[in-house]
This record gives sequence, C-alpha cells and structure tokens, in this order.
Amino acid sequence: MGRPTPSLTSDVAPVLRDAPPPAAVPTPSRYEVTLDESAIDPDVQKVLRRLVRHGYEAYAVGGCVRDLLLGRRPKDFDVCTSARPEEVRDLFRNSRIIGRRFRLVHVLFQGGKQIEVATFRKTPIKEDTDGDEPADMLIRSDNVFGEAHEDAVRRDFTMNALFYDLEAREILDWVGGMEDLRRAVVHTIGDPETRFREDPVRILRALKFAGRLGFGITPDVYDAIVQCRESLQLAARPRVAEEIMRLLRGGAARRTIYLAWETGVLDVLLPELSALLYDDDAPDGPGRRLWRVLAYIDERTAEEGPLDDTVLWTLLLLEPLKEACDGSRDRAAAAADFLEPLIERLAISRRYADGMRRIISLLPRVSVGRAGRFARTELFLPALTVAAANLVAEGRSTEPIEKLRQSIAPAPPRRQHTPHSFRSRAEKPLPPW
Ligand code: ATP
Ligand code: MG
Repeated sequence: MGRPTPSLTSDVAPVLRDAPPPAAVPTPSRYEVTLDESAIDPDVQKVLRRLVRHGYEAYAVGGCVRDLLLGRRPKDFDVCTSARPEEVRDLFRNSRIIGRRFRLVHVLFQGGKQIEVATFRKTPIKEDTDGDEPADMLIRSDNVFGEAHEDAVRRDFTMNALFYDLEAREILDWVGGMEDLRRAVVHTIGDPETRFREDPVRILRALKFAGRLGFGITPDVYDAIVQCRESLQLAARPRVAEEIMRLLRGGAARRTIYLAWETGVLDVLLPELSALLYDDDAPDGPGRRLWRVLAYIDERTAEEGPLDDTVLWTLLLLEPLKEACDGSRDRAAAAADFLEPLIERLAISRRYADGMRRIISLLPRVSVGRAGRFARTELFLPALTVAAANLVAEGRSTEPIEKLRQSIAPAPPRRQHTPHSFRSRAEKPLPPW
C-alpha cells in the first residue's frame, strides 16, 4: 500500500526561540510548517483565533494535525486550550458544556455542526489505594486540568500528540512525533507496555493507525502488543467494539485484521476468526474467503466511504456465521445461537445482532436474486452488499445482485458514519455567531 508522502520533509528544522521558559516547563520543538489551511474547517479556525485573541493558548491537536501533515483530509478537528470550560462557554454564545465527569465544550455552528473544545488535561497521579482498587494499571479517570505539555504526554502515540499553532503556523512537539511521522512509524509516548496496560484499547488503535496509514510498528511497540494483548479483556467492551468498527471503516480492513492476527490480538478478541485463518491451506477455504471479504470492504470503502456498521459486523463474522447455519433448517435461530456469546463478549448492540441474524438467514435467497417482501425492508440494501461480498469471496458472479439493485426504486441515501464532533443534530440551523 502506498504511504502518503508527508508534506513536511523540508520543514523539519526546529525554529529557535529567544526567551527560554521557566526551567520546570519542558520546551517543545517547534517546526514551521506549510499546511493546507483550506483543509482546516473555517469554523475551527474561528474558534482557535477567538481563544487566542482573548489571551488563551489554543491549538488544533490530535488526529487532524497528523492527517494534515500527511496530506490527508482530516475527518474531524479537535481543539485544545488553556481556557477552562466555563471560560470557553463565555466566549462563544452558541456553546454548551457537556459531560459531567469529563467536561468539554461544544461550540455550535450553522447546520448543526459542533466543534469540540477541550481544556488541557494531565494524567492524574495515582493515589495510594487502600485495597479497594483492582490490582491493575488501568487509568480510570482522565479529568484533571493541566498544561499543554502535560496534555501532549497523556496522549497515546507520538504522531497523535502534535499541537498546531494556527497563528504562528508552527507545530509544537514535546514527544518526537514529527520524527516518527517522517519515519512513518507508530510509537507510543513512553514505555509501550505501561501505556498498553493503562489502556488496552490503545493496542487496537496502534493496529488501526499502522493499517490505515501504512506505517510500521517499532519492534518494542510490537513486542508490547504481543505481551499485553490479553489485557484487552479488561477494557470496556463498548470501546473495544467501537474500535473494531473503526478498524474496518478505515479503508485498510484487510491489512489491519492481518496485523491483529499476526500479533495474536485476534485470538483474544475473535478466536472464531483466528481459528479459520490458522487453517487456511485450502485455496477456497473459509480463511481465504475472509481475506477476500476484507479486501472487498476496502474496495467499497475507497469508492463510497465507510460501510454501514451492520454490514461491517456481518461481513467480519460472515464465514463463521455461514458455518454455524450450514445444514440448519432454521438459519435465523442458528445464527442467533452463534451470536449470543459474541454479543456478550464484545457488547455488540442488539440492533446490529438482529440485523446480522436476518441478513444471514436470507443470504441464500438474496444470493440467487430472489428478494420477495424482504426488498421493502430497510435491511435490503445492507443484505445486497453482504451478498455481493460473499459472492466475490466465493469467486462467483455478482450478477444476481446487480439485477436486484436495478429492480428496486432509487435507493434511499445510505447511512454514513458521521464523525462525532460534526454529527448533525435534528435542530433548526443556528445563526452564525
Ligand atoms: P481518527 O482519525 O481515527 O479519528 P484520532 O487520532 O483523531 O484518529 P480519536 O479517537 O479521534 O483519534 O482521538 C483524538 C485524539 O485523542 C488522538 O489523536 C489522541 O491524541 C487522543 N486519544 C484518543 N484515544 C486515546 C487513548 N486511548 N489514549 C490516549 N490518547 C488518546
Ligand atoms: Mg479523530
């Protein structure tokens, strides 16, 4: 897979500053960069400028800075600032504080757009526990305000901890993220094993970024993934389920699941799948078909954006689901029996599980071009995608599916995954502030 060329090769010389800050505060490396500012949402720019004009520090941070530096279009923007939530709210008339424990501000714009503004936070110092706390390293609270450099080091990977100063057109880097971006490697901030034990979901995030960006994983991080993979069982299940979906939505499902398999992470999360893959000698066996299904997901994602979550779950589990239904008279019941422990283990929402069960039970009929009353249900289009993927994976023609597609009225718009901070709200448009 071709890696996007970072647009920073000629801009990596740190800029020297004259006035050194107080000794205790670490100094970031500063890099002058030429980013495509037209790719930065104009409302995000307004938020940043207003905060700075009122004397606060404010930066674009995280995934958006990483993506801009790699010449990719960010899916959403995160803003972080020295202003406290109340101070942010006072600056923006159309804003509200959200979250009780973990307070952020949403600044609302026309069309229901919302921009998330977070106050700098630091990793809380763990108090001595009196035996009530479980004996693990999990970080359970992440809501102590701090300074910019503390906010940088609490983040997961070096490439995700770069701060962009819009006015100065500079990147602030406390963690060596620019160098790791240039080398195209995923590296944790600090000791990988500690960081993965604090939050095992970071293991999946490492695989996601390596897969999506075509980056390498440094040997120490790779070894720590292998060492810590079992700790994924301690992570909050809905977070794990969401991260699995993100792996599949990112356009590199095949490569990412391959990495998950290679590192043994798949054995922990989805042993049903890794078993198939260990046993994939037969050229048309289920293991090979799984790789083809994942490649199909990537092709479709490249053409039309992320697929629907019900489709993604069904395709991920397609081979074991088919196996579970094989020869069964009641396919829906067989699928439900297979899914029950998975729903529990991965906190798959009932809505998706129900969709998977129905799609699988109708798959044989849809695959030969028969739809009947099912054609009028909202699961019809997802079922067509699943059936097409299955036919491709089995090396069969998708003609019956194309015919079904043509036979139906113009499709309703497919539900797209909308990034959280830009999620549309069913409210009337807000006036610009
Ligand atoms: P994506 O493009 O998939 O959204 P992202 O890097 O923006 O990637 P988010 O989940 O949107 O990922 O998180 C935003 C930022 O928050 C990250 O870039 C990172 O700095 C920080 N972050 C997210 N998850 C973690 C985590 N588990 N531990 C530490 N920092 C995290
Ligand atoms: Mg993001």
